Amino acid sequence: MTVPTVSNESLMEEIVGLCKRRGFIFPSSEIYGGYNGFYDYGPLGVELRNNIKQAWWRDFVQRRDDIVGLDSSIIMHPKIWQASGHVDGFSDPLVDCKESRKRYRADQLFCAPVVLDAEPCGYVAYVEGADEASIIKQAKKLRDSLDKKQSKLDEGQLFGSAADFTEVSDAVREQTLGPDASKAGTLTAPRAFKLMFETKVGPLADESAIAYLRPETAQGIFANYKNVVDTGRVKIPFGIAQIGKAFRNEITPRNFIFRSREFEQMEIEYFIAPDADWPSLHREWLDQCIDWLVSIGLPRESITEDVHPQEKLAFYSQATTDLMFHFPHGEQELWGIACRSDYDLKQHQQHSGKSMEFFDEASKSKYVPHVIEPSLGVDRTLLAVLTAAYCEDEVPNDKGQAEQRTLLKFSPRIAPYKAAVFPLLKNKPELVERADALYRKLQKRWNVFYDASGAIGRRYRRQDEIGTPWCVTIDFDTIEKPGDTFTLRERDSMAQRRITQAELFAMLDAQVY
Ligand code: ATP
Repeated sequence: MTVPTVSNESLMEEIVGLCKRRGFIFPSSEIYGGYNGFYDYGPLGVELRNNIKQAWWRDFVQRRDDIVGLDSSIIMHPKIWQASGHVDGFSDPLVDCKESRKRYRADQLFCAPVVLDAEPCGYVAYVEGADEASIIKQAKKLRDSLDKKQSKLDEGQLFGSAADFTEVSDAVREQTLGPDASKAGTLTAPRAFKLMFETKVGPLADESAIAYLRPETAQGIFANYKNVVDTGRVKIPFGIAQIGKAFRNEITPRNFIFRSREFEQMEIEYFIAPDADWPSLHREWLDQCIDWLVSIGLPRESITEDVHPQEKLAFYSQATTDLMFHFPHGEQELWGIACRSDYDLKQHQQHSGKSMEFFDEASKSKYVPHVIEPSLGVDRTLLAVLTAAYCEDEVPNDKGQAEQRTLLKFSPRIAPYKAAVFPLLKNKPELVERADALYRKLQKRWNVFYDASGAIGRRYRRQDEIGTPWCVTIDFDTIEKPGDTFTLRERDSMAQRRITQAELFAMLDAQVY
């Protein structure tokens, strides 16, 4: 059972506000009032997103000898989703509230006992991540609805033992006050809600035309496994990686881009021999994934591991461990790393009639490989990166007064702009020309920004807020003194030093990898 951790709503609000204000992320279809569960990435968001995907692709595909890439179609033959078990089984437990007409995911709805004057009097339900104050308020609402306004609420009991709604009995449910209800007993028993988006392909409008938007990229990899083996000169162990959109009709999309209905995944199927030491390989994958998250700027201490208990695993699964990150709304799954045995390939072998066996030259044996699947969401990674990078401090402004500064401490690897170039004054042609020349030269290699307007301190602040690691200012020393140097200003420490063009290029080369 997952026990929800305390949320930090104000941090989430700050991040959402900054993302909108500075053009990272917009609600989808905003001019029509928005569309729940969908988001659009603006000019800075698309750079950040691309940099995350590129860093992942470089490290897990291009810089390895044992992993190759793939880009499969989003809509595939519906039989793929039958073979994988998604058509029959890809659902979440849904709970309806008969009073408020709201819907909840049963495994994200928790039920806490309400004890009044030492007597159990019912339960309150709250959604994952709800804060203590709102749970207490809800318990008092139940007390009032029971006409027991004078009774003393035992707050300790409320937080002692929360059970999620997939585990509660009908009797408990009937005495439970829903999160948006005014009286107890309005929540229905959980029922399976299908998560795949359906569409129709071709001119026929009957059942045979039904197809699905993929809910994961992984099945595209299994469906192409044979093609890659037959054409790619791969040998076991090897992996196939894919980045692409996935779609799930989530019951309760929430927490900004953490859970949306259209999102992107970066997935690997790593094929191993059936007799391989999978626990050690699983551990290796976990460590590599943690190292990668740290390399893009997540603090090591904010990443934990959630080992799924044996009894909750699917029958074919040998082990699953999720890497959890401390998001503003609590500690939640970021990266799932599962050992899925030979289940998926065997299912496709059976449903398609095509052999998925691999001939292993080394052992001269034939087998259907087993698989380790590290599966990561691009959008969740982006939210984790924003959470880790967001900070506020106080700095003196141009007049020497203390001013609050908002900054995004992005790692240079993924920062939307790697550097910004400023002429100290925009009305001095010799400064502007030099700045423009440097900017054009840098632009050939990296995404950089040019800004000539406003006080220099304001220009620095604007870059801090969008996470640009360095600002380079062309000043009078550049043109008047020997050495051909610029002022380099560092985002986090705000330290300034002089640097030559060659040193600047060498530094960016080393830091942006
Ligand atoms: P959850 O339990 O949070 O619904 P899951 O266990 O169903 O997630 P997986 O099917 O393992 O998720 O998907 C792999 C990864 O894809 C997740 O670790 C997450 O990073 C990402 N992901 C899954 N669903 C969503 C979503 N609705 N929005 C954004 N990212 C998602």
